[in-house]
Amino acid sequence: MYYAKAYAAASAESPLAFATIPRREPRECDVQLEILFCGICHSDLHAVRNEWEDNSPTIYPIVPGHEIVGRVTKVGSAVTKFKVGDIAAIGCLVGSDRTCPNCRAGMENFCPHMVMTYNSPDPHTGRATYGGYSESIVADEHFVLRMPHNLDLAAAAPLLCAGITTYSPLRHWKVGRGKKAGVVGLGGLGHVAVKIAHALGAHVAVFTTSPGKREDAMRLGADEVIVSRDANQMAQHSGSFDFIIDCVSAQHDINEYIELLAVDGNLTLVGAPPQPLPVSAHTLIFGRKSLSGSLIGGLAETQEMLDFCGQHQITADVEVIPIQKCNEAYERMLKSDVKYRFSIDMASLHSA
Ligand code: NAP
Ligand code: ZN
Repeated sequence: MYYAKAYAAASAESPLAFATIPRREPRECDVQLEILFCGICHSDLHAVRNEWEDNSPTIYPIVPGHEIVGRVTKVGSAVTKFKVGDIAAIGCLVGSDRTCPNCRAGMENFCPHMVMTYNSPDPHTGRATYGGYSESIVADEHFVLRMPHNLDLAAAAPLLCAGITTYSPLRHWKVGRGKKAGVVGLGGLGHVAVKIAHALGAHVAVFTTSPGKREDAMRLGADEVIVSRDANQMAQHSGSFDFIIDCVSAQHDINEYIELLAVDGNLTLVGAPPQPLPVSAHTLIFGRKSLSGSLIGGLAETQEMLDFCGQHQITADVEVIPIQKCNEAYERMLKSDVKYRFSIDMASLHSA
């Protein structure tokens, strides 16, 4: 065991503050990273404030962060993928049973025994897992990803959650050339979804509650922008979408989007508002439409996504901040005032 500097919240009402946390010494299959950058995902805020209490109550203290890029500082004797000095990454998962049918199919993200990067019981320490708002982290090499060499690391960190969470359903639902795809909510996930859907060749429409984001959306790769609070703009697209990915973090009416699907169209929820969302059966059944969810992605698909983003020069648009500004960043994220992801420069932790 060794101790690492981190930022942790002691309760749902507490701000994130400096703390030291225990980490395991790397075992034979483990890789230790010095964390260089960690993105701020809205899931971090939901978890820190225990907003998902009904589904996954928060274990305090919590150290959030699952968009981690770092430099390898130690490797166990059995590690084959990495050597000291390599740049590597960790996303939302640090463990799974590796034997269940889902793991064997490359879907560790649906393993009944998956260990999330933070807020999961840690089989190694008996405590909770602690995430990337920290100077270092240790994980089995199976859960550590290789980074493309051509991407800026601060901007690439968000791919580890926002990237895979949007890439996976876009691929699953075969979004590409000749398909009309919608992205709801131009935040951290949404803006990466626009870039990936555009690179896949789809016609991309952005739905936003923020009319001021129109120009950004077009620059990011959208073909059109629809202000979702304007009923006339919405009505013009009735029954026309093959696929819509909903990246909204708060309560909203998903029936408005089901209405816009073509026959056999699909609406996938990746946003995870704390409260249930009402669904109109009538809107769904007229047109054999489907509503689904999606949770991050497996390890092989995460590597595929990183390689795809390397080939297409896709990263997040980031505002790099010192860790001391993370509480302020949460308040700005709640106001949709971030263009379009915060990325923490972890060097700032050394002056904490
Ligand atoms: P974010 O950066 O805060 O973006 C959310 C966007 O939703 C906002 O920028 C805003 O876009 C829109 N929005 C916010 N409040 C709204 C409201 N009341 N009504 C309508 N639109 C609203 O958050 P994020 O990091 O992208 O995360 C989005 C959600 O995905 C969170 O719930 C997060 O927990 C979840 N998530 C899920 C997975 C998964 O695996 N399924 C992975 C990561 C995150 P506009 O200004 O354009 O309207
Ligand atoms: Zn996330």
